[in-house]
Amino acid sequence: MIPSGVQAILDEYTDIESLIKLVAHLSCQEEQAVRNELLQHLGSRAFFLLLAEISHAPNFFAIQNRIANSLMRSNDEVNSIVTEVSRTHVSMSSASLGRRSSLRDLTPEQKRRLLQSQQNRCGHCGWNFNSQEETRTKYQSQPTLDHKVPYRIGGDHDSNLWILCGLCNSMKKASIHIGESGSVWIDNAAYPAPRGLVAFWVLWRHRHCTATGCRKGPSDARLFVTRLNNAGPWVPGNCTVRCAEHHTGNVINY
Ligand SMILES: [Zn+2]
Ligand SMILES: [Zn+2]
Repeated sequence: MIPSGVQAILDEYTDIESLIKLVAHLSCQEEQAVRNELLQHLGSRAFFLLLAEISHAPNFFAIQNRIANSLMRSNDEVNSIVTEVSRTHVSMSSASLGRRSSLRDLTPEQKRRLLQSQQNRCGHCGWNFNSQEETRTKYQSQPTLDHKVPYRIGGDHDSNLWILCGLCNSMKKASIHIGESGSVWIDNAAYPAPRGLVAFWVLWRHRHCTATGCRKGPSDARLFVTRLNNAGPWVPGNCTVRCAEHHTGNVINY
């Protein structure tokens, strides 16, 4: 989904070359740089489509047939494409094998140690897992296991694991990047950011209470997101992080 105002502009740029000119102009880049970026983007998209082609195919010959049917290429070329894509597919699937994805995948001792190292709080927003507060649903307040850096890149080592509350974990999964204007990029589409997502990224940016002289973080305190200028909007540029002691009550319900 693209906001309708932007769609109206895009409707005037119906061919790829004029779109490249527009993007080059907006981003102050050379047209060639934009063209290369676009080709890389399309290339990785094509690669993932090829990966999807080979998923669940019973054997090499079935994969070869499927890819040969979707690409008009010589046998040799198809063979080398199938070989490379299959290798990537195997290494991606094996990377996810054995990955610890939930707290149940940890031994009780590992779980206890991890929770203790975080003072029994969410590693991001400082939610206390012993809290009796009823501002959250059971799902939002439960401890969940997460990989700090996505496991495909960061691996499954203990140092890459942390415990997040259900709310933070769901926010983390739903978002990739947030701009200062309050838009979030999800699957290549821009959406206006709901407040929860704004809170998540403001926490991500500061990680600590920003009150003068206070450095409380998620292991010492529950953190809240509040506005710098109360007349301004709830967007990341107008928000900051305060601990339970230093916020004035006007916070995002997070
Ligand atoms: Zn949290
Ligand atoms: Zn503070």
